[in-house]
Formats: sequence, structure tokens, C-alpha cells
Amino acid sequence: MPELPEVESLAAFLRERASGRTVARAEAASFAVLKTFDPPLSSLAGLTVGQAGRRGKFLDLPCGLSRSDEPRGGELHLVMHLARAGWLRWRDAMPDKSAKPGKSPLAFRFVLDDGTGFDLTEAGTRKRLAVYLVRDLDDVPGIASLGPEPMAEDFTVEALAAILNGRRTQIKGVLRDQRIIAGIGNAYSDEVLHAAKMSPFKLAASFTPDEVATLHGAIAETLRDAMIRSEGLVAKDLKGEKKSGLRVHGRAGQPCPACGDTIREVSFADSALQYCPTCQTGGKPLADRRLSRLLKLPRPRGAARPPLPPAPRALPPAHPLRPECAIGLALVGPSARLAR
Ligand SMILES: [Zn+2]
Repeated sequence: MPELPEVESLAAFLRERASGRTVARAEAASFAVLKTFDPPLSSLAGLTVGQAGRRGKFLDLPCGLSRSDEPRGGELHLVMHLARAGWLRWRDAMPDKSAKPGKSPLAFRFVLDDGTGFDLTEAGTRKRLAVYLVRDLDDVPGIASLGPEPMAEDFTVEALAAILNGRRTQIKGVLRDQRIIAGIGNAYSDEVLHAAKMSPFKLAASFTPDEVATLHGAIAETLRDAMIRSEGLVAKDLKGEKKSGLRVHGRAGQPCPACGDTIREVSFADSALQYCPTCQTGGKPLADRRLSRLLKLPRPRGAARPPLPPAPRALPPAHPLRPECAIGLALVGPSARLAR
């Protein structure tokens, strides 16, 4: 799923392509995708597109009567959250057809007066992509509750220390909780922890000042590198670039690019994390309960070794939806304030 660096690039892409143009129409292809009803989507027609921006993993397209060269001059905000399997597809020639509910992955269509525009698509059967049309960004619940932006100037080592202080939760969960820090999801939290050489299960409250500084540096470096890689790529190339730039996330079974050890995975009901034992956990593999359940069958005391059970059911892919998502990705979440 697109996280901070990809959404940032999508915003830059839309600033280049859409800002200053007039909206012809916006349509939701399904009832579920549009999370607001007032103002209606029809009120976008005729408005000028302002400067696209980002809050956490939310893409913000302001549209208003004001001219596009006025930064952030929008009376309405079209806010899009691409969730796990959503994407933005720019088209130089949008079809005349309306977006209709159906089996296609099309979720939302946005058309400009020159015939260009974009579709939001979502693969798979679990539909989580969300579009909001609001007068104030904080009317989007996920935005109102966002934590701080990790690339903002005021996200200092001290600010991170205050976030971690006293928190009896694993650092992996802290990093991807949008209410705590905005924009980092399952993929970049794996990458940050690999760069910091830290276990995903390390408790936030246990960080020493040096470790906080290391983590802070890893967050900044990981996100900045990803943003540089995706800068200037057109929307259709961003997904591929994200995957090719990841060092551990989604790479279970492959060699760690830093030390050559085999990257391992811990699976959860709805996602999975990847890490390198040598780099991050002192060489010890982390327990993967789902795997343990399948492999270690209880045997009554003194009983003879039982015959092999019927072949265990094959593990379902972490994401039944798309093969490239076979390794879990982050959920939606709320979180922070961004300097645009
Ligand atoms: Zn390694």
C-alpha cells in the first residue's frame, strides 16, 4: 500500500498535472467508496484544482473558486485514502463513460475539463479505499486523529523520545500506528527497524537515549531515500519503485542486503512483518505463532510418536488478494500534521 513517500509523490504528480485545471466531474463507482455525503460530489464541477498535498497517508486535492496559484486555496477538499490495495491511475484521455458499479477494480473517477484525469482502483475483494469530500480536512476522522509527521522539522529526537517514553508496546506497532506517527505503514516500519538494527518486538519504553537517536535517524533516512527514489516518477511507476527499493519488507526467504542472512517473517492474522535475525535480533529468530501452531502438534505424555497427521492445510497467503501483496501490509490509520 502507498505510504508516506508514495503519497507524497502522488501529490507532487497531481500538482504538476491537475493544479489550475477545472473539474469536469467526479464520480464514485460504488456506494461504499465515498464516506461523506455533504457536500455532494457534484459540487466539485466547475471548481479549480488547487495544490495537492498529503497528510499522513491521505492524499488531499483542494478544489475551489480561488485561483490555483494561491497555495492551498480550496473551499473543498477531495481526500483520498488508497488503503491496502488501492492505486491512482492517471489518464491523458478519460473515457466518457460514467463510473458504474461492477466487478472492475474502478472505485472512483475524477475528470478535468481538458479530458485528462485519474481513476482510483482497488484490487481484491476487501474494499477499503476511501474518498471524502469535506470543507475542512479535520472533518476526516483519520486526519483529525493523526500523530505528528515524521518528516516535519519539529519531529526531533526529543519529540520521538517523548512519544516512546513509558509506552509498553512493541516498537513495530508504535511506528505503524497513525495516531502516534503519521504516514509510516507496515512496509516502511520494517525498513526503518532494519536500518536501525532493532527488533520489531522491542518495547518502546525500553529505548535508551542513544537508541532513540538511532531510530530517529533511521526513520528520516529511510523515508527520505524512498522519497528521492520516487520523486518524479509518474504514478504508474511508483508501485514498482517502492517494491524494488525495499530491503527486508516483502522479502522473506531472500538474503539480507546488509549481512546475507535469510530474511524471516512473522505472520499475524491480517499481516506479516519481515526482519533479518542477524541484523536485528542477535541472530535469534522471533516466534511465529501461526507457524508454530501448524508445526508443533501436542503429543500426550509418554505416547508413541503419533502417525503423521493428514497433510496440514496449506498456509493461506498472508493476502489472498494479490500475489505481490503476499506479505502483509499496513492498515489504514490516522495521524499527523504536515507542513506542505
Ligand atoms: Zn542482515
